Amino acid sequence: MSIEASVREFHLRVKYQGRRAKFNDIHDEHGRFGSGDGPDSVARAESSLHEKLPGAVVDFTGLQPPIARAIADRVSGLAEKYPEAASTLRFVGTGLGDAKKCGNIAGFSIAGPDIQSLKDENTIAVTINSTDVGVGMHADQAMLINEKQFQDGLVSAASVRDEQVGWVPPGCDSNLSRIDHEYGHVVCNYLLDDGKGHTPSASSTKDVGKMTVDFLERNANLGMQVSGYARSSVNQAGYEEGPTRLAYLGEPFAEAFSSRIGTPKSAWSEYTIKTDRLLGRVLPGGSSRKWGTA
Ligand SMILES: [Zn+2]
Repeated sequence: MSIEASVREFHLRVKYQGRRAKFNDIHDEHGRFGSGDGPDSVARAESSLHEKLPGAVVDFTGLQPPIARAIADRVSGLAEKYPEAASTLRFVGTGLGDAKKCGNIAGFSIAGPDIQSLKDENTIAVTINSTDVGVGMHADQAMLINEKQFQDGLVSAASVRDEQVGWVPPGCDSNLSRIDHEYGHVVCNYLLDDGKGHTPSASSTKDVGKMTVDFLERNANLGMQVSGYARSSVNQAGYEEGPTRLAYLGEPFAEAFSSRIGTPKSAWSEYTIKTDRLLGRVLPGGSSRKWGTA
């Protein structure tokens, strides 16, 4: 089976520069939102998601209004389910492949070589996690979407083919599942970084990060069953160390997360069931309230 051009998604950790971008206020009544946009406009989709993610810049430039709306609704639903992880998002939007935009997103600085790898036209979406060297990890992150991959709609010939060849989990034939996958990274990064964001939560010093690393390592082989993409990532992890290895081991987690959100339990792999249990233990109701008490 050919998996040509199938490396559609990957995950990068970049250095955090300690700067905070000025967040655009897309709620400006005198600006885009209030200037006669119809109910399905891109600006309204951005606005509705920004309401759920007040700390994030939301920018859906280049998407058709119904697609922007569908993505906004999807991320909104996930943010409601995992509000603490959602609070680490600093950017959700298009522009993947736009070096200038990628180079400075909501306080992240992305170096040249990383920008190059972001420009792969086959990539559907990427979640970037920041690190703050010398201070420790932060969970602050950005979700970047390749608008070109959404030009043919949410279910495209490419997304269906990916499902048919087993590159993505069974039943995940919509590009919205790739959005779920990205949100899986948001949750995974949040856990790996013990919930540290710009404003660490009271519970952010617990050992959930270690527990998550242990989960990813211990179940890596099982994770290969989730999808072809998960298998390829676990294989790649075998050649990597440190944060890069963890980034690859985060892929089966993200794949399992998308399966868990988008498909019935009967379609879940054993790894997905284990991921579900882990989340039930460490993020019951999406909250870290019980961290350190178990
Ligand atoms: Zn991924």
